[in-house]
Amino acid sequence: MDFRFTDEQQMWFDTLNTFMEKEVGREYIREHDASRIFPNEAYQKFADRGWLGLLVPEAEGGLEADAVMYAIFCEVIAKHSLDFAAAIMTSMFTATNIAHNGTREQKDAYLPGFLSGEIKFAISISEPDAGSDAAALATKAVLDGDEWVLNGNKVFCSGAHLPGTVINLMARTSADKHGGISMILVPNDAPGVDIRKLDTIVRRSLGTTEIFLTDARVPQTNIIGEAGKGWAYVGQHLEWERLSLASTYVGNARTALDDTVEYTKAREQFGRPLSSFQVLKHRMAERETEVNAARLLVYSAATKLARGEKALKDVSMAKVYAADVAYRCSFDGMQALGGYAQLPEYDMERYFREAKHAMVGGGTSEIQRSIIAKQMGL
Ligand SMILES: Cc1cc2nc3c(=O)[nH]c(=O)nc-3n(C[C@H](O)[C@H](O)[C@H](O)COP(=O)(O)OP(=O)(O)OC[C@H]3O[C@@H](n4cnc5c(N)ncnc54)[C@H](O)[C@@H]3O)c2cc1C
Repeated sequence: MDFRFTDEQQMWFDTLNTFMEKEVGREYIREHDASRIFPNEAYQKFADRGWLGLLVPEAEGGLEADAVMYAIFCEVIAKHSLDFAAAIMTSMFTATNIAHNGTREQKDAYLPGFLSGEIKFAISISEPDAGSDAAALATKAVLDGDEWVLNGNKVFCSGAHLPGTVINLMARTSADKHGGISMILVPNDAPGVDIRKLDTIVRRSLGTTEIFLTDARVPQTNIIGEAGKGWAYVGQHLEWERLSLASTYVGNARTALDDTVEYTKAREQFGRPLSSFQVLKHRMAERETEVNAARLLVYSAATKLARGEKALKDVSMAKVYAADVAYRCSFDGMQALGGYAQLPEYDMERYFREAKHAMVGGGTSEIQRSIIAKQMGL
């Protein structure tokens, strides 16, 4: 058993880290979080380097990275901001869906534009009455001639409002709970689609939205794969999605802790650095142990996936644990930075908001624990 990255993996980690520091930077991320404006320039830099195609097969112009390389990507970006990572990563899963399940025409229509940064994707599963029980979704898609007619209400669809975005919308095409869900591509400017931004405390630069569909119409050919297979298609990349989220939480935790260490070393009270007080020192030592443990869970799950093995329990364990660790790191950071933690320029309040969402987004921590328990035969 070798816990080190290979030379190639280490080089990828270092390249991304240097890129994030030199080409993106903390100030840029902070500004976009505060202004709630999508980081277009940075997104384009990812596109220009071909990195948006990380999960797209080589035959379709992508990089077809394995799960470890992908986890490194997510961890390093999120070291600088978990929300910024979401802004970059959200489109990638729909692109993968199209690459694996779409028709030749869909691949030609969407993938080159996605890889060049012109077309973005949003994924819309959640509804007001279908959150954790996502398959209870009720938005209807009915065929009328050669068009789908869509009616319903979606909520928390991140990035749906951005120019040039196509929504990967999960809609009900028959009554069967799981087998009646289909994936339909809906351009965000299609007639009958009304998108309203929500003022959430996270996903500020990406933005999250509510969608109202009133007799919205898209061509019949906009369905991905077969009708009724939408739930199965989402399931194809669930492990990768949870792995990516867990990796971003580790990145977030690492920086929250590093910033806390740095601050407590520099800040003096009662004539000595805060870091010399044992209570703070021990707290940071505990968090350091946990960040390392979470990282091991992430790369152990990633290694399994890279070997082509199932890792359903592993990715849920990594996600639930890394979310808790990220939360504890930023929670302690908020305390250690005292009043200064409340100021955006110290970034800690952002890490704290981002880490709290980690317990909810992409399947809540309670749901992850239920998945782990089921895998344990409970
Ligand atoms: C900022 C943001 C961005 C998002 N982006 C997207 C997106 O792009 N696309 C998308 O489709 N969705 C998105 N979501 C939705 C997200 O996936 C849901 O919020 C999440 O799945 C939880 O659903 P809910 O909010 O309806 O909570 P609920 O399902 O109502 O859950 C509320 C609480 O009850 C608990 N609970 C529910 N069922 C059980 C159970 N069986 N056992 C134990 N506890 C349970 C939950 O764990 C949670 O703590 C986003 C959400 C937010 C806040």
